[in-house]
Amino acid sequence: MRSDQVNGVDPSDEISFVLELLQSPAVPDSVPCSSASSRVQKMLDQLSCEDSLPSLNPSSTSDKRQKREVEEDCFKKMAEQYECGICYEIMHDPVQVTPCLHAFCAGCLSSWFNKQKDCPSCRKEVSTAAKGFQIKSAIEMLLTAKPEFKRDPSELAKLDDQSMFTRDVYVVEKPVAEPLP
Ligand SMILES: [Zn+2]
Ligand SMILES: [Zn+2]
Repeated sequence: MRSDQVNGVDPSDEISFVLELLQSPAVPDSVPCSSASSRVQKMLDQLSCEDSLPSLNPSSTSDKRQKREVEEDCFKKMAEQYECGICYEIMHDPVQVTPCLHAFCAGCLSSWFNKQKDCPSCRKEVSTAAKGFQIKSAIEMLLTAKPEFKRDPSELAKLDDQSMFTRDVYVVEKPVAEPLP
C-alpha cells in the first residue's frame, strides 16, 4: 500500500477504474468486441489463405495450362522442323538429299526434279536422294501425338502419285558433258 502511494498511484483509484470498466458496458463490451472482430478478421485472413490453397488449384491448373502451352509450343516447333521446303506442310514420305541433307516430301521433290536437280532449299547440286527413315518415324510419332497435324488423305495420295522414289536411294545422274567438237 505504502509503496503504491509512493509511486503516486492511489490503489482506490485503480479499483474505481476497474469498477468503472465493469459497470460501463460500452468499454468492456467494445474491448472484447474489437479483439473478437480482429480475431474474426485473422480467421478470415487464414480462411482466405486456406481458400487460396484450393484456389492454388486454379494456380495449379494454370501451371498445367502453362505446361500444356510449353508442350504445344514444342509440338509446333517440331512440326516446323519437319516442314517440307516445297509445300510448307509436314513432310510426307520424306526424302533427304545429299550433300546438304535437306529433306522434302517424296512427291514434292519428284515434281522439283522434273525441272531441275538442285536442292530446293539451298540450291546445292544434289548427288543422291534417299528415303529419310529416321525423319519419317519422328514425324509418325509427332502425328500420333498431334493427329490434328495430319494432312488430308487425298493430298497424301496425290503426293504418292507424284513420287518417283520407288527405291530407297536415288542417285542423281550428272548431266552428260557435251562432247567437244
Ligand atoms: Zn512437300
Ligand atoms: Zn539443301
